Amino acid sequence: MSSIRLRNVSKRFNDTEVIRDVSVDIADGEFCVLVGPSGSGKSTLLRLIAGLEAPTDGQIHIGDRDVTFEPPKQRDIAMVFQSYALYPQMTVRDNMGFGLRLAGVDKKEAAGKVDVAAEMLGLTHLLDRYPRQLSGGQRQRVAMGRAIVRQPAVYLFDEPLSNLDAALRVQVRGEIVDMHQRLRTTAVYVTHDQVEAMSMGDRIVVLRDGRVEQTGTPHELYQRPANRFVAGFIGSPA
Ligand code: ADP
Ligand code: MG
Repeated sequence: MSSIRLRNVSKRFNDTEVIRDVSVDIADGEFCVLVGPSGSGKSTLLRLIAGLEAPTDGQIHIGDRDVTFEPPKQRDIAMVFQSYALYPQMTVRDNMGFGLRLAGVDKKEAAGKVDVAAEMLGLTHLLDRYPRQLSGGQRQRVAMGRAIVRQPAVYLFDEPLSNLDAALRVQVRGEIVDMHQRLRTTAVYVTHDQVEAMSMGDRIVVLRDGRVEQTGTPHELYQRPANRFVAGFIGSPA
């Protein structure tokens, strides 16, 4: 069970409330996209789910556990960022296996898991290379591989494609969707790009100024935007 439930979550930094009374339910196995303009609170909301920030108010449940004040390590979550921060002195194989080894998984089992993830992402022929010998898209795939090998209950993505050029972005976008269709692991994906949101999300949460403007399937948002902001942002004719 890895549904995610946010109940009346708020987050204040000093005197500024950047997340305002957000309630969102993400179903087990769903690919949920958080979309909104820069500064709307997407990364903060993701960090709250990850446990990298604690809410000022409200509760966060993952599955049937209240994780509101649990540290990130206990949440069974993997995060993929835009800056892929691979270890330059380690091969792809070691980059992918590093987290498993840290978590105490023995060498042989870790190697097996790396092989499976590499196969899934088309990285098998690159396992002995170093990050500097990879293209941007390949590096991003290794960063995803590093998240996949741990088989977490939830994936969190924070604008993972924003360092890639346009063509590659479309390609890796497709790969992430394929990966999700195979694994069916609950995913929360942050982007400011409405095309990306509409093409990837099972469901979309539109944020503005730390508030949820609307939640729905791409079809619902397009056909019945809740207000002019959503209509304008999504590019709906309504
Ligand atoms: P987004 O990811 O949608 O661009 P963020 O969640 O990064 O938005 O930021 C939302 C708002 O919260 C911004 O105004 C940002 O300046 C502010 N903010 C984010 N993190 C902090 C922090 N650690 N301290 C103070 N303000 C912050
Ligand atoms: Mg952000």
